[in-house]
Amino acid sequence: MTRQRAQIFQVIMESPRHMTADEIFETARVQMPGLARATVYRNLGLMVRDGQVRRVRIAGEPDRFDRVVEAHEHIHCPRCGSLEDLRVPWIRERLENELGLKVVSMSLNVEALCSRCAREVSPSICREREASGLPEDQTSNMN
Ligand SMILES: [Zn+2]
Ligand SMILES: [Zn+2]
Repeated sequence: MTRQRAQIFQVIMESPRHMTADEIFETARVQMPGLARATVYRNLGLMVRDGQVRRVRIAGEPDRFDRVVEAHEHIHCPRCGSLEDLRVPWIRERLENELGLKVVSMSLNVEALCSRCAREVSPSICREREASGLPEDQTSNMN
């Protein structure tokens, strides 16, 4: 493994979040000022190919990279864009046991409000927010 690849891999391993390639680039660049964006993209592709990290695709958004490579699904919040792990092994078991499917791989993104957004959109809290003049915060976790 090249030093650059090791550094990029470490950024992913140390982040509790599912980062985009650009977020990984911005973080890795702090340690390696000469790092090129294309190098990050190329190495991410190699790591996905080698099963070191997992690529999570979300329609209309940049791919995220996941340090957890074991089978699991995701909950995507359409309001703030956050991505959380979802463990529902029984879905696969039921597909296999009840429908007789031989599942090769499964990729499920559930669109659901995260707990923070669910609180914020609840009607009573919404009115308080508007009254207090707090700005709408749609992109806070994009960077
Ligand atoms: Zn949210
Ligand atoms: Zn995940």
